[in-house]
Amino acid sequence: MSPPPPVPLQPVLIAAELRGLLEPDQLEGLEVTWLAADEATPRGNWVAIVPLLSRWVGGTQLKSLPALRIVANCAVGYDNVDVVAAEMRKVIVTNTPDVLTDATADLTWALILACARRLVEAIDLVRSDRWTGWHPEQLLGVHLRGQTLGLFGVGRIGQAVGRRAVPFGLRIIYAARTAKPDFERDTGATRVEWTRLLAESDILSLHAPSTPETKGIVNSDTLARMKPGAIVVNTARGDLIREEALAIALEDGRLGAAGLDVFTDEPAIHPRLRAAPRTVLLPHIGSATHDTRRKMAAIAVANVQAVLAGRAPLTPVFG
Ligand code: NAP
Repeated sequence: MSPPPPVPLQPVLIAAELRGLLEPDQLEGLEVTWLAADEATPRGNWVAIVPLLSRWVGGTQLKSLPALRIVANCAVGYDNVDVVAAEMRKVIVTNTPDVLTDATADLTWALILACARRLVEAIDLVRSDRWTGWHPEQLLGVHLRGQTLGLFGVGRIGQAVGRRAVPFGLRIIYAARTAKPDFERDTGATRVEWTRLLAESDILSLHAPSTPETKGIVNSDTLARMKPGAIVVNTARGDLIREEALAIALEDGRLGAAGLDVFTDEPAIHPRLRAAPRTVLLPHIGSATHDTRRKMAAIAVANVQAVLAGRAPLTPVFG
């Protein structure tokens, strides 16, 4: 009896930058075209695409990939994908939740601590050779215990950030569409309206996705309602903040500091914000640990394998 004919390989597009994070067995059965971040999305009969969050996958791109069955985003946020256009074309959209929660919550705390304890100014002082020794009033920062942490968005990452606040002795308040009783029970957090969150937070940390409702939620009006000297931290998406308004609040001395991992027009940063005082600006490294990035790439490709094998995706964006 002759052996069964080989199963044809499935043509897929995968971001070239993920190559070093993937093992050959994860790519079994796939004929991969590696797509560099600076290349436009090509036209053709690929059945799956694994894009980075910097690649817009909208109606035009979906139209030029008529055989596409899945967009397996390598990120938990999926604001780079037109999910309505995808649904209309019956293309499944998946993301990579959970595996990046701890890494991103840890980085959020790195930003909170760096802002509160003026780490950038301290490092600059040492590097500048101008440090003349211990001084009782040198680089005094914010004492965290007893301060109020305000969380906007308390899903996976927002809750992980809140849980880390308990041993630091912070009071936690949060604004969310739905109450989180388990989180409240475990951390003593209180749910408040957005306006009260602004008025009472010593540290405001953003953890909601970029949506039409959340874009620009931190703007000149909302910044004016914040406590003088408050700290703003953003590890969610850059466009939640109006960057020029934030820069002006820092220039005026109304805001204590801003710790930002994400920007509206990455990798560009509004020039006024780049030049503003008391900022800690990071190049979108929230999930950047070896372990996390490997897991993100693995889940994205596992979603592709599942859908192409006729199984349910592991982590669909909807349902
Ligand atoms: P998640 O579990 O889906 O949590 C998002 C939360 O935002 C949900 O609790 C949701 O509320 C809330 N939310 C949505 N719209 C809101 C609104 N209009 N007002 C108030 N709350 C709203 O997502 P996650 O895993 O925590 O990730 C959060 C975001 O972090 C992602 O969307 C992504 O953009 C960003 N992120 C950034 C990095 C980085 O590298 N810096 C890494 C990972 C993630 P409900 O609970 O009521 O639905």
